[in-house]
Amino acid sequence: MTITPEGPLAEEPEARPTSPEEAVLREAESVLEQAQPGAESSMEALDSGRRLLLVHAHPDDETIGNGVTMARYVGQGAHVTLVTCTLGEEGEVLVPELAHLAADQEDQLGHQRVHELATAMEALGVRDHRFLGGPGRFRDSGMMGLPSNDRPDCFWQADLDEAAGLLVEVIREMRPQVVVTYDENGGYGHPDHIQAHRVTMRAVELAADPSRGRGEPWQVAKVYWSAVPISWWRQSMRALRASGDTTTFEGLDPEGELPFGTPDELVTTVVDAPEHVEAKLAAMRAHATQITVDGPFFALSNNLGNEVWSREAYQLVHGQAGPAEERDAQGHETDLFSGLD
Ligand SMILES: [Zn+2]
Repeated sequence: MTITPEGPLAEEPEARPTSPEEAVLREAESVLEQAQPGAESSMEALDSGRRLLLVHAHPDDETIGNGVTMARYVGQGAHVTLVTCTLGEEGEVLVPELAHLAADQEDQLGHQRVHELATAMEALGVRDHRFLGGPGRFRDSGMMGLPSNDRPDCFWQADLDEAAGLLVEVIREMRPQVVVTYDENGGYGHPDHIQAHRVTMRAVELAADPSRGRGEPWQVAKVYWSAVPISWWRQSMRALRASGDTTTFEGLDPEGELPFGTPDELVTTVVDAPEHVEAKLAAMRAHATQITVDGPFFALSNNLGNEVWSREAYQLVHGQAGPAEERDAQGHETDLFSGLD
């Protein structure tokens, strides 16, 4: 079943909107107002010892890649800040009743996704989520090679230092010890993911430089890139094929060369928190226009249970790994903050 915003996730509007479009826009506006945290949240954050910043390209990337990690650290009392770089305006719309919001129709998908992100963050317990430079500052660039890559307002066309400067402000305000983003290829080559990687790495560098920008310099202790180890992809694809599914990842052989995934030997850290899988799945359902809850991969993974969804992997690329005695049997760190407290 695909859960639509008219379903269990809908909130009671103040006065009845005259159309579904108006309802969506009205909700998006109120979410936008609430989404920008005030001074209160930064004071609270500096009180909590552990502070984690995640930088993502589009609403839904955070949940798919790091949902369990975010819920786990919120649950442990850490301050978790999510910065999303675009509203995901160019995404596909998987809910037929909302197909009219798509970029090639009314071009209102961004509003809907602001709302979906807010609902997802509620499910994960993340209260501090923002858009880089404010909502709508950078537009989704669309998949690599599309004409939308050339729009002057898209994230792919953003000036690197200007975009990084906006993130430096967040880093100096929140002072995260740990920052999470994508690898150089953005995980799978989407221009906004590649740009999010570049902007984050540049911002970490600039935030520590006293000669750059306003505010107190801040040195991020550890930077991680999100990773899905190639062995995990193979395992999921084998399970799919074994179940008789030949169309998901069509043309790819689980035992052959895969065009995505991180070589296992580069993975340094695995966060495994089965107790937060339900929250992650709820957050995935909240991204209703983007994730079909009954898709074959999702359904299968759901049947596989916690094993697939409870684990999230990382590659430490800046800072020192935690001590060996805190690692698991494979030698992986199990905590992004290992070695810091
Ligand atoms: Zn994305």
